Amino acid sequence: QGVTKIYRTKEIETVALEGVNLDVHEGEFLSVMGPSGCGKSTMLNIMGLLDVPTEGKVIISEQQTQQMNDGAMAEFRNRMLGFVFQSFHLVHSLNVLDNVELPLLYRKCSEKERRELATSVLERVGLSHRMKHYPSQLSGGQCQRVAIARAVVLQPKVLLLDEPLGALDLKLRREMQLELKRIQRESGITFIFVTHDQEEALTMSDRVAVMSAGHILQLGTPEDIYNEPQSAFVADFIGDSDIMAGTMVRDKLVRFLGCDFPCVDTGFGENADVDVVLRPEDVKLKPADDPVQGVPQGVVESLLFKGVHYEMKVRVGDSVLLVHSTHARPVGTQVKLTVAPEDIQVMRKSDYSPDILKRHAARV
Ligand code: ADP
Ligand code: MG
Repeated sequence: QGVTKIYRTKEIETVALEGVNLDVHEGEFLSVMGPSGCGKSTMLNIMGLLDVPTEGKVIISEQQTQQMNDGAMAEFRNRMLGFVFQSFHLVHSLNVLDNVELPLLYRKCSEKERRELATSVLERVGLSHRMKHYPSQLSGGQCQRVAIARAVVLQPKVLLLDEPLGALDLKLRREMQLELKRIQRESGITFIFVTHDQEEALTMSDRVAVMSAGHILQLGTPEDIYNEPQSAFVADFIGDSDIMAGTMVRDKLVRFLGCDFPCVDTGFGENADVDVVLRPEDVKLKPADDPVQGVPQGVVESLLFKGVHYEMKVRVGDSVLLVHSTHARPVGTQVKLTVAPEDIQVMRKSDYSPDILKRHAARV
């Protein structure tokens, strides 16, 4: 609630978080996403009681954590919270089984209980056959599984993960995404998962928080964030998109690229300046002699085969649009562009608006 974090060194003051409010629901998979330096780790560390906010409160299971003394907070953290970081922090002189049993030593579990718990968790992360191996004998992905097992074995209420898959290659990353999702579903542990990877956040989460410069700009389901971005920043960050300046002529009619488009948005007033966002897969190309009238015309400037689709850049006047299609149109082809009313996303102007960006660029 109202969390601000200011780092002060001798000369510099960095505002890493500013008035952040976030509710995490019990049992959900929440991703925190944003570019490097936007404050993700700072927020995670504060939620995980590894750091204290300059202002604001952290409430976990109705406990006001800032009222606890250091000892009580450490005890509470060990009982409630688990952590997985990008670097695995395994003990290199211990084998896999002992690494996973280690935290249970502090829980006063019997030897038998420790063994049973650790073995069953290692089974769950697919490492039963590696229990006697040492960390140096494992791959990166296997090490990260051990780190996850070690965190899960304590049955925390909340697991906080800071870019845990950042060090893994793409294929392994995808595998581990599924694995983590499965562990989360089976265990019912609340996951708070930090990543700078949009695709990862969208595929894994129940909800996604998108951060920029110490603020949460949008919080919603992956579908909400992708289909209904509330600002140009979110639209741009969350995947390929065409963002351009437009005018809301009146309710359900927006002008951009020199044409009027029926849309579904209302309540912007008349002749209001807005930002328009289109997803590249929602822009449809028609041949220049198509009978459709009142739509922008353009010319294909580039064509790339991307596996599932072709990616084309289409110039319309001063603008260049990204278009995805399963149908290739050669460079130089004249085309008409159409887009369905419900695929047009209209947003109020923000600091991140395209014409403002252009102005920034001009200044540089
Ligand atoms: P992210 O995890 O999103 O990359 P961080 O939370 O690590 O971002 O950092 C947010 C901002 O706070 C950055 O500008 C970073 O340089 C600054 N910062 C982080 N940790 C410290 C620290 N211990 N001392 C000073 N500045 C810090
Ligand atoms: Mg970080």
